[in-house]
Amino acid sequence: MVHIAYSRRAVLGMAIGALGAFVLERKLRGAGAEPTPAGKWKGLHLCISGDGGLKSLAEQAHALADVGVNVAVIEVNYAFDFKSHPELSDGARVTAKQCKATALACREKGIRLIPGFNCLGHQSWKKATFPLLRKYPELDETPGKYPENEGIYCRSWCPRHPQVNGIVFALLDELADAFDSDAIHVGMDEVFLVSSEFCPRCKGTDPAESFAKAVNDIHGHVTGERKLQMLMWGDRFLDGKATGYGEWEASKNGTYAAIDHVPKDIIVCDWHYEKRAEYPSIPLLLKKGFRVWPAGWKSEPATVALRDYANGQADEKMLGHLCTTWGSVAVDKLAQWPPVLAGMGKE
Ligand SMILES: [Zn+2]
Repeated sequence: MVHIAYSRRAVLGMAIGALGAFVLERKLRGAGAEPTPAGKWKGLHLCISGDGGLKSLAEQAHALADVGVNVAVIEVNYAFDFKSHPELSDGARVTAKQCKATALACREKGIRLIPGFNCLGHQSWKKATFPLLRKYPELDETPGKYPENEGIYCRSWCPRHPQVNGIVFALLDELADAFDSDAIHVGMDEVFLVSSEFCPRCKGTDPAESFAKAVNDIHGHVTGERKLQMLMWGDRFLDGKATGYGEWEASKNGTYAAIDHVPKDIIVCDWHYEKRAEYPSIPLLLKKGFRVWPAGWKSEPATVALRDYANGQADEKMLGHLCTTWGSVAVDKLAQWPPVLAGMGKE
């Protein structure tokens, strides 16, 4: 996965300026909810740190647009100056003011920004537990277990805890508003702790049911109430055995049956970082009715293989290509990075 100087103007000038900015913004965002045409989503996924990272992105908007980028998912997570829950802000945080400035600078170059926040899983990394479960340990799917996160990949929140959605939805709302975005990426990848025996609410439940509940609850808010497009990673919807992908880029922990119990207007970001002859998840997800945004990473040959396989699907629900970066490249080098050029079809 961010400063505006105001000059003194006459009242009339301010009014005209505000109206002009409004018209320009409407034009750039598009009148509908989907300004980027299907098949043309040429995207980047970035983890941005602090307002400085967002300023760099604004400076690079022209160069990125030049190579074809027209969408960027900015994964923010807890590194944001939250007003609804200031106790959950963490790390080199970005401000709403800089988010708006960068989003506008990018929009002026034809690049749509979508904020990202990891929901359900990825609530810790190595020994560090992230703010939600540090401040509210009762929301943990495995409360009091795995001290220092020893023996687990990442912590999860409990999708059945009655307080979790109220807190998280406020964070999602703030991010969408900060970026003036019509969409949000809610993560949900690599969730290994689900329907845990250590959770008093989820013990004995079906992992697919628990996962689908989390997806449906979040969708109900994001799309149902806020009318935003919801994007998420696709790995928990894929049968690791049947697809041959294994337990990371697909599921071997019982969640994949959730694929038939979630809304099909979710955009599924189907990540695969290795070169393969086929990517069976793409036709599978398309057949289920999802719009699919395949995502590659740092291997140029793998990116080309995934991109070309996806482009061969001849389905308008195949949106384009998403280049993830995961800290492998500095923002000011993005427009020259070979995997990005490959993702844009310019290798
Ligand atoms: Zn639970």
